Amino acid sequence: MHVKRIFTSTMAAGLAAVCALASAPAASARPAPPSTPVADGYGGAVVSDTVESTQAGIDVLRRGGTAADAAVAVAATLGVTDPYVAGLGGGGYFVYYDAATKTVSTIDGRETTPAGDSSTMFIDPATGKPYAFETAVESGRSVGVPGMLATWQRALQRWGKFSLADNLKPAEKVAQHGFVVTPEFESQTQGLATKLGHFSPSAQLFLPGGSAPKAGSVMRNPDLAATYRQIEREGIGAFYGGSIGKDLVDTVQKPPVAPGAGITPLTGPMQVSDLRAYRALDTAPTHVNYRGYDVYGMAPSSSGGITVGESLNILGNFNLSTMDRVQALHHYLEATRLAFADRNRYIGDPRYVNVPQQQLLSKSFAATRACKIDPTKAGVSPVAPGDPYATGQGCATAPAASADSNEQHTNHFVVTDRRGNIVSYTNTIEQLGGSGITVPGRGFLLNNELTDFNFAPTQGSAPDPNLPAPGKRPRSSMSPTIVLHDGKPFLAVGSPGGATIITTVLQILVNRIDLGMTLPDAIAAPRASQRNAATTDAEPAFLAQPTTKGLEALGQSFKNAGSIGVAAGIEFLPHGELLAAGEPSRRGGTSAAVLSPGH
Ligand code: GLU
Repeated sequence: MHVKRIFTSTMAAGLAAVCALASAPAASARPAPPSTPVADGYGGAVVSDTVESTQAGIDVLRRGGTAADAAVAVAATLGVTDPYVAGLGGGGYFVYYDAATKTVSTIDGRETTPAGDSSTMFIDPATGKPYAFETAVESGRSVGVPGMLATWQRALQRWGKFSLADNLKPAEKVAQHGFVVTPEFESQTQGLATKLGHFSPSAQLFLPGGSAPKAGSVMRNPDLAATYRQIEREGIGAFYGGSIGKDLVDTVQKPPVAPGAGITPLTGPMQVSDLRAYRALDTAPTHVNYRGYDVYGMAPSSSGGITVGESLNILGNFNLSTMDRVQALHHYLEATRLAFADRNRYIGDPRYVNVPQQQLLSKSFAATRACKIDPTKAGVSPVAPGDPYATGQGCATAPAASADSNEQHTNHFVVTDRRGNIVSYTNTIEQLGGSGITVPGRGFLLNNELTDFNFAPTQGSAPDPNLPAPGKRPRSSMSPTIVLHDGKPFLAVGSPGGATIITTVLQILVNRIDLGMTLPDAIAAPRASQRNAATTDAEPAFLAQPTTKGLEALGQSFKNAGSIGVAAGIEFLPHGELLAAGEPSRRGGTSAAVLSPGH
């Protein structure tokens, strides 16, 4: 494999030196080692958003930890170095391949709606209409009961070797000593300055002296270090019922607005009892077989596994590898146009709505959807959902549905250990910067995950599966995925990006399996995301491809959506070789590393 090697011990020493300088003036801080997007080798691998989080995972693997141990270390460190997309205030979905039993399992760590909320929580009683989306984002109302810490604990109970306290230590150190601010972090903070500035503890933490920390300076978070230390001492009860939880609940009930911010955020009804009641759920993965590859993903409350799976099943009716590139991309776009209509109509929290998962993932249903694809013409969105309950149905449909939104923020990382266990974990606080509200004295931001509900019905006369309800989990698009081939690991992959997550994961699978790209090329390739909308979101590099004119001639239309997704993947090559692949340039480039670099 001709790929760049990464993260040598010299680099690690450089990072240690930087951390030691944490309290020195910013001007004397040395930059972090450059993040390297691709690594190959043996013995274990990590791909995550930041150099420090990847290194935390590699260190745990080197000490003999499992992929689950390393995943907790990575996630906790992302809470420090990638705080606008990760951390204790959020939730996520954890997919695990257990090498000993050769099985894939999943944990649903999605945030839940407090018991005191209602189905009209996002309807303004003064007008009877939904609140403006941004009003809902920056509020206590949008904060779901966080599932992150419960997920870490559950993963360690099932597959860990070390304690939670051990696995939090690397993150605690980075929070205490600091990390060197990257240009990406500086620009994210600048972009969030208004939102963060609305809340005093967020402004104090992230806008010291009133502005974003400069690239090259050192960012410390002693409050978060102390929070991690308290959890190390007291266990997750400190959060799910103890004093950290009490502070969290107070913050949701009375968001700490900065003087002069000029906003009166909606409050949330979360109680300590909501935290006590929270459980990360053991769920069965979704599964489809695509051209001989067994693709496992997240079942609802995420729509990711079903929608990726249905799209693959639709594409399984065509031979993409022998099509010209325009036709292959046309079919890719049409498959998700159709699958998103079904997602929007049928998928929600299965504890609240009856999700026809088996039908949506059946080959026979996919065949009825595949026959809707016209190779000479793009579909006209919104296309109608299919009827997964119909039998022997030809090309039946239900009345039309609406499009879905494009959010941009979250993170995905992958880990594998020397035993061959694998973690594919997407975690989030929803929007970049979540609700914008930091829990005072605790060093972490709160999610705004409940804005993933539809505020009002979207499905015309049909029921909407994603309306709010007490205790319900909002529908997600997160699609952490593990693929086996002939019973052996082939690929682990995922991405952030709101509803574009689904198309990004699908496009990477199609690029790798059908179009013959290497995993790094499949990840780096320009992206387009069709989600049953009149126009397809596309990256500038996709628009510049010669194939785009051919797609437009078929009636596809595109709009520049900027960058889409930030993928992380590992491919399992013959003889134990690992190919770890992140992003060369999206989100400023991400960090891949292996335990023992190849030769
Ligand atoms: N909240 C989104 C979801 O669960 C993820 C946010 C994002 O990736 O932008 O689908």
